[in-house]
Amino acid sequence: MVRKIAIYGKGGIGKSTTQQNTAAAMAHFYDQNVMIHGCDPKADSTRLILGGKMQVTMMDTLREEGEEACTPENVVEVGYEGIKCCESGGPEPGVGCAGRGVITAITIMEMYGEYEKDLDFVFFDVLGDVVCGGFAMPVRDGKAEEIYIVASGEMMALYAANNICKGMAKYAEQSGVRIGGIICNSRNVDGELELMKEFCDKIGTQLIHFVPRDNIVQKAEFNKKSVIEFDDECNQANEYKTLAEKIINNENYAIPTPMTMDELEDLVVKYGLID
Ligand code: ADP
Ligand code: MG
Repeated sequence: MVRKIAIYGKGGIGKSTTQQNTAAAMAHFYDQNVMIHGCDPKADSTRLILGGKMQVTMMDTLREEGEEACTPENVVEVGYEGIKCCESGGPEPGVGCAGRGVITAITIMEMYGEYEKDLDFVFFDVLGDVVCGGFAMPVRDGKAEEIYIVASGEMMALYAANNICKGMAKYAEQSGVRIGGIICNSRNVDGELELMKEFCDKIGTQLIHFVPRDNIVQKAEFNKKSVIEFDDECNQANEYKTLAEKIINNENYAIPTPMTMDELEDLVVKYGLID
């Protein structure tokens, strides 16, 4: 059975980086068959797997060539260790709704049975600043069964993570979606590990892994590669390997219990977070 996982989190928090490195680690170290479906209008969820290539997006293909052209042959590419990649893309800036594009793209992939073909994992990389209809769709309609939220010890990241939990709590009964944990992508702020653990306790999930900040991430990116492909023996590759293993073996699934704004503010004050 394929496991469908959505990675949510505030823009810029490190979703695409973490998700591509985790997917690369699953494929490289654990021989898993993985697909990545980017659901961020930025359309940069698959670049490190495809050697730096910006993929032609599903929305671009739809707009320019029509629905018949939006087939897996045209919009799915295979990269590092056989990882399958596609990007939803977005509307032209100022025109149309990006969330709507996510719904269309996922529906088309499902129509072709693309998520079921000999896969162990499908990752949806979803923008989490706004949990509007479209971006909530993987959660609401049970398109993804497991959610991991990337966060760090920073007010806006926790605020976004809490909002995503609110969206999940609302739909968990009907769609069956569960949170598998929070991934801390460290910003190296004081007390970050303790803060993240307390945040996870409060929202009723686990801190599945604490990913350190490491310049080798940028170095690999500069070389158009995941850290795993760039140097599979370095410390950071080992961190992503550990995260991959924890996700593969995860048995901790919950319906989150989001915090109130007052509780979130108390937590932020307790740890002295400013921004
Ligand atoms: P998102 O997908 O959430 O918008 P990205 O994955 O694009 O965020 O991350 C933004 C930038 O942060 C990336 O360009 C990457 O270089 C950097 N980054 C992410 N995680 C780490 C890390 N653990 N260590 C160092 N740099 C990181
Ligand atoms: Mg991204």
